[in-house]
Amino acid sequence: MNQPLILIIEDEEPLRRFLIPTLTGQEYQVLSAATATEGLAMARSHNPDLVLLDLGLPDLDGMAVLRELRSWSRKPVMILSARNQERDKVLALDHGADDYLAKPFGAGELLARIRVALRHTLQSDVSEPVVCSGGLRIDLERREVSREGSPVKLTALEYRLLEALARRQGKVATHTQLLTEVWGPGGAGNTHYLRIYMAMLRKKLETDPTRPRHFITEPNVGYRLNLEAPGD
Ligand code: CA
Repeated sequence: MNQPLILIIEDEEPLRRFLIPTLTGQEYQVLSAATATEGLAMARSHNPDLVLLDLGLPDLDGMAVLRELRSWSRKPVMILSARNQERDKVLALDHGADDYLAKPFGAGELLARIRVALRHTLQSDVSEPVVCSGGLRIDLERREVSREGSPVKLTALEYRLLEALARRQGKVATHTQLLTEVWGPGGAGNTHYLRIYMAMLRKKLETDPTRPRHFITEPNVGYRLNLEAPGD
């Protein structure tokens, strides 16, 4: 089996020292760069399967690196963001990054996110019609939703929101992305719609809507559907 190649573009040496053995221990091949220039050169010469990209690099803004990568590659890019990069992180997601990890993060979280991002690449050509999260099953082709085998009725907007999350196969969706996809280009400012409809989805689909296991809130960023949720 081919081992996926992961490129790390990160100037913090301690973080690279943590990332490299964590990834090689999982049979990933790893390349690492400490500057944007070096990282972009490695990306062009090796075409990695996934890029872990720090937004705060010494020579070039991480957003510029993302734009350059996106001009020729659709492979997943995962942002590594520090706490003071909240706005940049959302901007990066809205401009084509696939996901983010907020520093500090643990090995378990890192590896789970990488699995999701790589699975998404493998499936992106064959659109996956059925998405499951624990006991929740969403059939995107037949537009049917069931919980523990029982069908659940959703309104058109509730379904559209669920579909927007399900199509991302576990990746984060930003507020702007969800609002535009569900309510159209004019919907982008209405974050309160999203809160209201997310509460309705949780009420219908979560066992305990106050402690959601399927619909995860990413504070100040958006939401994701947890594909690794346990059954009810
Ligand atoms: Ca940095």
